Amino acid sequence: MHPAVAEGLGDHCELIRLWEESDPDAVLAARRDEIVAVATGGTTIDGPFLDGLPAVRLVASFGVGYDRIDASAAAARGVVVTNTPGVLDDEVADTALGLLLMTVRELGRAEQYLREGKWADGRPYPLTPATLHGRRMGILGLGRIGQAIADRVQPFGVSVAYHNRHPKGVDYPYYASLTEMAADVDILMIVIPGGDSTRHLVDASVLKALGADGILINVARGTVVDEQALVDALRTNTILYAGLDVFEHEPKVHPDLLTLPNAVLLPHVGSATIPTRTAMANLVVDNIRHWLSDGTPLTPVPESTDLVN
Ligand code: NDP
Repeated sequence: MHPAVAEGLGDHCELIRLWEESDPDAVLAARRDEIVAVATGGTTIDGPFLDGLPAVRLVASFGVGYDRIDASAAAARGVVVTNTPGVLDDEVADTALGLLLMTVRELGRAEQYLREGKWADGRPYPLTPATLHGRRMGILGLGRIGQAIADRVQPFGVSVAYHNRHPKGVDYPYYASLTEMAADVDILMIVIPGGDSTRHLVDASVLKALGADGILINVARGTVVDEQALVDALRTNTILYAGLDVFEHEPKVHPDLLTLPNAVLLPHVGSATIPTRTAMANLVVDNIRHWLSDGTPLTPVPESTDLVN
């Protein structure tokens, strides 16, 4: 847990620091009837977990993605779930753009080339086959972060289309079909929530539609992409490149991805700056403090809104 969460809550409630306990399950069992709120940074929280803590009425999650929390099971038990939307949009969009530039221009490999002394030996880095200019980006998930990415790429001369389940009131072309959008663009930017409903939405057929000049960027959740299909697509040049901040079995990375030269890999650093992580921690604190004072947390997830209205 981020230290600002513990610092911010210390004066407002008794805090049980499970992350410092050698046997957190035993502590939870001993205090099961007293614990009313849980702050979590990524633990799986499902119905059976909540059944073990019958007094809990709030789960405050650190992060905007809450795919490891069964928010529907929580709502069925009268438990509100909150997340930390908005405060990380710019940071994640910056990461997405950086990852895209690294990928399309092979900047990580070019730096490695320099460090290995090859440039100093008089050999310039080979020209990259692709350029960003004139590309079309299809955003899978034009939400808060997706919009921040769209705002950033258009000044680079990249046009934007999107696929959500529902069209929005924006000017970009909307595709009801992900595969049709993938066929019409040459960058697929993934920024939808993870979880069962989006598992392997990007599969072999979507990658095939993206095509041989296509670039896949994933800053959402690794589970959205069929990772084996992606490895196969990169190996057979079915697509050109992939830039990934997230993986199906984090922190493990598919071993073939580690060896493929056309994959750029980051260790899930989308929001990972001190200022942004502190802002996220402060929102966890504010959610709990507001809920403690008047029962209205600031940013409940959609599954919980009926419980707070
Ligand atoms: P939002 O809820 O604002 O946007 C999500 C968008 O995805 C919505 O526009 C939604 O539109 C669309 N969507 C949801 N489900 C589907 C679906 N099945 N098919 C197509 N579109 C879908 O979320 P944020 O922009 O705040 O965050 C997006 C995700 O980014 C997070 O859930 C998180 O997993 C990931 N993330 C990753 C980070 C990192 O470190 N790499 C950091 C922060 C976030 P509609 O409802 O119309 O379908």
